[in-house]
Amino acid sequence: MKFEDYYISQELKKNLAKLGFVKPTDIQFKSIPPILKGEDVLAIAQTGTGKTAAFAIPVIDMIHRGKMKQRNDGIKCLVMVPTRELAQQITEVFEKLSRHTKVKAYGIYGGVGQDEQIDRLEDGFDILISTPGRMFDLISQGHLLVDRIEILILDEADHMLDLGFIKDIQDIKRKLNRKHQTLFFSATINDVIKKLAYSLVENPIRIQVSPKDPVSKNIEHSVVFIEMDDKRFFLERMIKENSASKIMIFVRTKVRAERVKMAMERVGIETITIHGDKDQQDRFGVMKRFKNGEVKVLIATDVSSRGIDIPNVDFVVNYDLPDVSENYVHRVGRTGRGMAKGLAISFCSKEEKPILDEIQGFLGSNIAVLEMSKTEYKDILEVMKESDNDTDWQSLIRDNEDFEAKRKKAGAKKKK
Ligand code: ADP
Ligand code: MG
Repeated sequence: MKFEDYYISQELKKNLAKLGFVKPTDIQFKSIPPILKGEDVLAIAQTGTGKTAAFAIPVIDMIHRGKMKQRNDGIKCLVMVPTRELAQQITEVFEKLSRHTKVKAYGIYGGVGQDEQIDRLEDGFDILISTPGRMFDLISQGHLLVDRIEILILDEADHMLDLGFIKDIQDIKRKLNRKHQTLFFSATINDVIKKLAYSLVENPIRIQVSPKDPVSKNIEHSVVFIEMDDKRFFLERMIKENSASKIMIFVRTKVRAERVKMAMERVGIETITIHGDKDQQDRFGVMKRFKNGEVKVLIATDVSSRGIDIPNVDFVVNYDLPDVSENYVHRVGRTGRGMAKGLAISFCSKEEKPILDEIQGFLGSNIAVLEMSKTEYKDILEVMKESDNDTDWQSLIRDNEDFEAKRKKAGAKKKK
């Protein structure tokens, strides 16, 4: 079935065609009808499979057709997302899909002034895309009224429910229009969170696409064993061998992000970083430069592991393995989006092997190992070291100590 054959408004069909969306993806095919019928939905589908449009299409159509009361009557739909970049990105999708319709979407998030957001709230719009912090601020200041909201969407739902906002979400649900619809979308979910989601709704329709393997089939992912102190040399080699590729590198901490950037700078590789210590305008700027290809290598923390949709990321490198297993799926899911194929590689050191085991447990299967003989490993290292004589060994040792300390702390916390 093509979008052309759907019983949705002509304007929406034109917008879909303009974006090059001809046929719905699996998750879109399965979610659009029940959402249009007004059902509550819990939808789980792999990264990059078009979950945004799976909720945006039916919501825009319902509002446009005036199934709900028209604008100036307050916000009709609230989309909650975990990060500001994601709020911006999803707002863009809503804007593109609602062109020439009666529907207006707007995104609000923290880290930027709120005056303009308050003005827009006064003007009125239909769909609000928001991060929790700024949203709760504006509600408590009396600028944001939620009583007319008829649809609540949690994107990256497992994370949203896990962030400690559950009480706020319960509170909000009490304030919304009494007969509202609730939609949960994510690529990952665990049993605890699933229960939590079910506790918020009655009789939801559960839709799951490819439940067995949480990693998208478009992604070829593997792990290679590299010691902590050697990682930078292998990264340098990888980037230089793939100089035309767009690469996203994930590290564990903000400090590590800046250190890896510096290490790459010393060997003539231009990179940019994104993490929670950066000013929001900076963060938006960085995303833009990476998106348009001005800089080809982005070093990120997990703040950017979820949801971000950048076309043509060829490689994801886990320079450090993620502490939270789900994030493995989200990180590698920044490549292989839509129809595209992607490659992901994880650098695993001795100290990280327990994390690798946890991740494999979460995935329910082992990650392919990229075999490298000892001689090969040594040869590569020697060549790379020769071309980079001014290694800052002090900071590398510090890195390793930081890591050890953090693992110990995490271990202690788990035992509690
Ligand atoms: P998810 O939220 O599932 O990770 P997104 O909603 O970000 O995925 O979509 C991933 C990519 O797929 C986007 O670049 C989007 O434009 C594209 N896409 C979505 N739906 C379709 C479709 N029906 N046909 C072609 N491309 C699509
Ligand atoms: Mg998404």
